[in-house]
Amino acid sequence: MALLVKKFGGTSVGSINKIKNIAKNISKSKDAGHDIVIVVSAMGHSTDDLNNLAYSLSKNPPRRELDMLLSTGEQVTIALLSIALNEYGIPAISMTGSQVGIITESIHGKARILEIKTSRIEDHLAQGYVVVIAGFQGSSLSHNGSMEITTLGRGGSDTSAVALSTALGAETCEIYTDVPGVLTTDPRIVTNAKLLDAISCEEMLELASVGASVLHPRAVEIARNYGIKLYVKSSETDQQGTLLLSDIKPLKLSRGSLELTKTVNSLEILEKQVVFGLYELPDKPGIAAQIFEELSKAKINVDLIIQATREENSNDITFTIAEKFLEKTIEQCDLIISQIGGKYSITQNMTKLSIQGAGIMGRPSISAEFFDTLSKANINVRLIATSEIKVSCVINLKDIAKAIRFVGEKFKLCTNQIFINPISEKKDKPEVRGIALDKNQVQVSFRNLPDKPGVAASICLALAEANLIFDTIVQSERNSELNTKDISFTMNKEDRLNAENVLKMLIKKYPESRLEDGQAIAKVSAVGAGMAFKEGTAAKIFRALANENINIEMIATSEIRTSCIVLEKDCNNAVNAIHNYFKLNE
Ligand code: ASP
Ligand code: MG
Repeated sequence: MALLVKKFGGTSVGSINKIKNIAKNISKSKDAGHDIVIVVSAMGHSTDDLNNLAYSLSKNPPRRELDMLLSTGEQVTIALLSIALNEYGIPAISMTGSQVGIITESIHGKARILEIKTSRIEDHLAQGYVVVIAGFQGSSLSHNGSMEITTLGRGGSDTSAVALSTALGAETCEIYTDVPGVLTTDPRIVTNAKLLDAISCEEMLELASVGASVLHPRAVEIARNYGIKLYVKSSETDQQGTLLLSDIKPLKLSRGSLELTKTVNSLEILEKQVVFGLYELPDKPGIAAQIFEELSKAKINVDLIIQATREENSNDITFTIAEKFLEKTIEQCDLIISQIGGKYSITQNMTKLSIQGAGIMGRPSISAEFFDTLSKANINVRLIATSEIKVSCVINLKDIAKAIRFVGEKFKLCTNQIFINPISEKKDKPEVRGIALDKNQVQVSFRNLPDKPGVAASICLALAEANLIFDTIVQSERNSELNTKDISFTMNKEDRLNAENVLKMLIKKYPESRLEDGQAIAKVSAVGAGMAFKEGTAAKIFRALANENINIEMIATSEIRTSCIVLEKDCNNAVNAIHNYFKLNE
């Protein structure tokens, strides 16, 4: 006999008939003798409807009252489902978040869960009840000690379900939704996108544009931290769906910090890295493919790859390798440069520093704080590359102790959250599991910025302070002799319009540099946990694009993700090309 937590989303409880069907199906698991906790969302679009009611009265409704209102949506569903279950002869009892004791921070509208009291649920289960719990809500104590209703943020009932599974020590958590599970990519773009049997939580977070609509990222992070077996499946069919697996050693649940309130979860350091800068390469499709194919043939495993700037018809590509590949890489670079032209530089004794955490997603202030911390420690940042849940930069090896101290303190990391040269066991994972696409983006570049500590920080801080979301920040240098660097990032088109003043102010601060706006672009990201352990994955991605004659405007990589910025007109073609190249439909 196991304890199962099942969560049903808005569409799955969207009508009385659907609620009846769920009640009927529950009787099957109950017959098998399992204890069952059900978490539900509000019916259909009722949260949107409630929200609209509030905004029809006020442009800025008090957050406390919004929580009071929105939390009623789920309260309707728990009562109806309990009534239906009882009608089918299954003893059931409904509970709100406050009745359970889902204790959250006292932040209205986006509270994180601190702790869940399990005794009332366990008592009901022991008496043979199915317990039906309202998702998306909890309660906090106000400053004077009285109880307040809070909500977890839109889509938050997934998070309630996984958090409850953690607190109750449930065997599995099943999220029932209106899609069959997690697909390799958006099926509107690739018609033969395939349902994934399994995916790691980390990969799921990096596949944000595909994954976040399926599962609340905070739910994925809790599952990852506590090793919860999480299934996402359709409530309409009997299919298995997708299993999300944790890729780290599960944390112990400690009191009062269920959802770690930290945005940054870990700091990783990779020592003894060498930076290769290839300059003045021809800017045409196929160059990146050719370079990384040569390196891969020589069995050189490339880590970060960064391409950002473009001058007239030339491009720069920078990459890092582990020191043990140095000799071989020099040989290959000589060969490559003799074939395609350009020149190259080598910098030894470098280190890669990365912060990671689901909380980084959509919060550019975190990268700004990271760079700011380094600049306060007077550490110069040589390269930068970001992905959804990770910000990496390359610094001098000599600065590493200082960097660990400053960054560790800034993000309040304990020693068990700091990993130096971590050994990973993801070798047998697929190199590409899925492909994400972010459309509607533009590229903005600052050219010829002074190469000194604090520049990246000041740009990111200014944008973050103005509440502008930017990502895929890439820093590279045109030519190290000039002692300048370029910083490029992407933002969505709307934010670019709103950024005009901030960008103008920034450019005044750096009179030697200039601002360049790129064309409409899209970000195509291939994600796979095995990527870091196979030579040549990046080469294949670039080859897939070159075969379609798609030029790559910008490249940024992390261990499990390679992002290429391409012109918006090419993006569907690009996703299809990579999907086919890696035979993801098979
Ligand atoms: N009902 C809430 C929303 O629509 C929470 C959820 O469905 O996950 O955002
Ligand atoms: Mg949802």
